[in-house]
Amino acid sequence: MSEFPLTGISSVAMHTGGHNNAESSHLTPIYATSTFVFDTAEQGMERFASLDKEKIYSRWGNPSFKAAEETIAALEAFGLQDGDGNPLRLKALLHASGQAAMTTMFMSNLQSGDMILSHFSLYGGTYELLHKVLAQSGIETVIIDMRDLNLVEETLKQNPRIKLVHIETPANPTIQCVDIEEVTKLAKQRDMLVTVDNTFATPYLQQPFKYGVDFVFHSTTKFLNGHGTAIGGVLIGKDIELMKTKVWKWFALLGGNANPFDAFLLSTGMKTLELRMDRHCENAMQVANFLEQHSAVGHVNYTGLKDHPDYAVSAKQMKHPGALMSFELKGGLEAGKQFINKLQMCVRAVSLGTVDTLISHPASMTHFSVPREERIKFGITDGLIRLSVGIENVGDILNDFEQALKI
Ligand SMILES: *Cc1c(COP(=O)(O)O)cnc(C)c1O
Repeated sequence: MSEFPLTGISSVAMHTGGHNNAESSHLTPIYATSTFVFDTAEQGMERFASLDKEKIYSRWGNPSFKAAEETIAALEAFGLQDGDGNPLRLKALLHASGQAAMTTMFMSNLQSGDMILSHFSLYGGTYELLHKVLAQSGIETVIIDMRDLNLVEETLKQNPRIKLVHIETPANPTIQCVDIEEVTKLAKQRDMLVTVDNTFATPYLQQPFKYGVDFVFHSTTKFLNGHGTAIGGVLIGKDIELMKTKVWKWFALLGGNANPFDAFLLSTGMKTLELRMDRHCENAMQVANFLEQHSAVGHVNYTGLKDHPDYAVSAKQMKHPGALMSFELKGGLEAGKQFINKLQMCVRAVSLGTVDTLISHPASMTHFSVPREERIKFGITDGLIRLSVGIENVGDILNDFEQALKI
């Protein structure tokens, strides 16, 4: 970390993370190595004995991971202070995927008999991880509408086995927002852990540690990488010692470490996070306004629109509503399929947060394995279309939509 006080998040993204290296390389090299050399037996002993298990074996850590981890930790901590008024320090662990980071997060903090509380609109992979993998290990999940704070309080009261509250906000794909500050207050009254999936917002738009949460999670596959070049995930914690002991141990034993090439791609992508996000957000607002006014479009879910029920929560905790939205075509599933097929520039693909505009159909793609009844309850109707607005010239996005919406 630079001693020079950086006042802007782009400067932090570009100048935090990475170390001097023997060959004076400007960028942190891709340390493609499984193991590291000890000059002497004593040096090996020291590295094993240190709390930072560095330069030992790449499942345990690698300088290419470390560079990306330091950047992400600095972005999430940017401008925040700890309880004593000092700059907040965080520790990040880079994983092979978001799913791997999430597995470490839940497994290192919970054991059989514990329960998780979460919101009903969730990323499909998270929903399945909770209901299939964790359920089989004796960790149950209670799903409610966490936007109803009375219900949150009541549920916590009635289920003393709840140990952890998991918040995904904005949530996939309905863009619902959960109030991080209020839910964290309720959880902390009962000494529970709070984890936040900050993937949709990125640390540029939302910093959950401001509200006293314990862990922040990202699928780095999305906006942090930004270019769709690699799968990755990161777990960030404020209890540095816990991160370096128990959480690190689970990370190392579950074996979900990243690889040096993907870490390099992530480090490169993050340098332009602020620039990209500003353009993503600007374009998204224009696209949302366009869709809302179009006669073929039914409902538009975007928290930048005043009629979204979570407009106020989003405005309170996010710098901008972001680049994700979903919408319903009046013609339902058939119209949705036709629209998707007629697109000329926007890309038909799942995932999100890449520089180009991606369009998907949750009911048949990302949420296909969620039972239909559940899906509909979550607001994922058959005709819902999800959109990750890219940073193309917005006129071309609008023209593509205009022609694809013509019947
Ligand atoms: C993509 C995503 C994940 C899972 O991450 P992977 O990198 O695909 O493993 C989790 N949560 C959210 C909100 C996501 O968008």
